[in-house]
Amino acid sequence: MKKFVVGNWKMNGTTTGVQEYAQGLIQILPAASCEIGIAVPSLYLPQLSARLGATSVAVVAQDVSQFKGPGAYTGEISAQMLKDAGCTHVLIGHSERRHVFAEDDLVLVGKIACAVDAGLVPIICIGEELHIRQQGRYLEELARQLAVIERTRDLLPATVWVAYEPVWAIGTGLVASTAQISEAHAFLADKLRELLPKSKTARLLYGGSVKGSNAAEILALPGVDGVLVGSASLTVSELGAIIAGTKVALPA
Ligand code: PEP
Repeated sequence: MKKFVVGNWKMNGTTTGVQEYAQGLIQILPAASCEIGIAVPSLYLPQLSARLGATSVAVVAQDVSQFKGPGAYTGEISAQMLKDAGCTHVLIGHSERRHVFAEDDLVLVGKIACAVDAGLVPIICIGEELHIRQQGRYLEELARQLAVIERTRDLLPATVWVAYEPVWAIGTGLVASTAQISEAHAFLADKLRELLPKSKTARLLYGGSVKGSNAAEILALPGVDGVLVGSASLTVSELGAIIAGTKVALPA
């Protein structure tokens, strides 16, 4: 199965920037041997999907409302609206949503349910904070965060995308070691096999300071089905270097 490289622009970008990026991405697509998804701010999603709609690139939302709507939820964007804007996937539970916006499991379960109901594929992000890693309680914490998947497992699509993103490695330049990534992914794969009905398969992305120079090594690890990339996804050249890293991971 092809690897999945998902870029998350966070709160970056301009109309012109999206236009140029999409153009650049289209040029490198013929050489890409992986699936690609790009998550731009909601405002730019229709523009991105208009530019990339005819390609295989998935247009990904960074967040979704926990409320189905339509209705009186000022400032919210519903899953149905994201679908209407051309999105196919949505990030749910990114560490910045959990920590900066205090999203808890109840909110995340609502978001997953709304996304799936609208036909969007959720990419559910989990990961431990630094102090929890240092206290050696990280596997326990990851298991705890899987509760949102347990609570929505009957709703989830046949392929369940989960991104393991240690919070201490996001936007810090600190990358988890290959041993740390392998341990977490093996643990999560086991837990998810237990949690999910037999008809569903989990696929795991790693996220946390992935860039062109370390992508190939990470993507070659067994149990790593792709990467979720923040700052390094902001330029096509760096994203292209990460995409090139998926080739190294392909079996000969
Ligand atoms: C992210 O935003 O999910 C992320 C992993 O960011 P960065 O690649 O910048 O660490």
